[in-house]
Amino acid sequence: MEYKIGKVLISKEEIQNRIKELAEEIKRDYAGKTLVCICVLRGASVFMTDLVRAIGAEVDVRMDFMAISSYGISTKSSGVVKIQKDLTDDIHGQHVLIVEDIVDTGLSLSYLRNLLEDRNPASVKVCVLLDKIERRVKEVEVEYTGFKIPNEFVIGYGLDCAEKFRQLDQIHVAVPDGE
Ligand code: IMP
Repeated sequence: MEYKIGKVLISKEEIQNRIKELAEEIKRDYAGKTLVCICVLRGASVFMTDLVRAIGAEVDVRMDFMAISSYGISTKSSGVVKIQKDLTDDIHGQHVLIVEDIVDTGLSLSYLRNLLEDRNPASVKVCVLLDKIERRVKEVEVEYTGFKIPNEFVIGYGLDCAEKFRQLDQIHVAVPDGE
């Protein structure tokens, strides 16, 4: 089924204001430390670039990237999680912040969190922009949450539907074409 861009759920201004607040919390929590921010490709790429710039120079931020499979081209969770691209650097002894676009069933994030914890970092925390709490199947700890949203399929600001719409600068609801 084809989808089109529906109403704005979270505006540009709301996103940027919330990112500033999250960055303030992160700055407080990691002052004087080195923080490895791990972007979960591809959805979190837009969020992470804004987040690290909002954190600024007060924290020694490093960036690394990881890709895991989630929904493929369908909008339903497959429950199958596979590493498509691993980190470039070793995280042993490092403070790690997993940056994700959205937590939905929780399957991807709980897998990723366990996987990275097994590599003996100094700490692991999670920062998600969006949380669809009512869809949770697997509990996963999330330390920093941007927005709790209702159970709607959303696009924009990095989030896609069949690889489209990632470039939009606000979060929209995806509407089946023809509605
Ligand atoms: P989970 O494993 O079900 O928590 O799925 C997380 C992944 O599913 C996210 O990283 C997204 O790639 C994708 N996802 C879940 N909900 C949405 C949505 O509303 N729009 C776009 N992608 C979504």
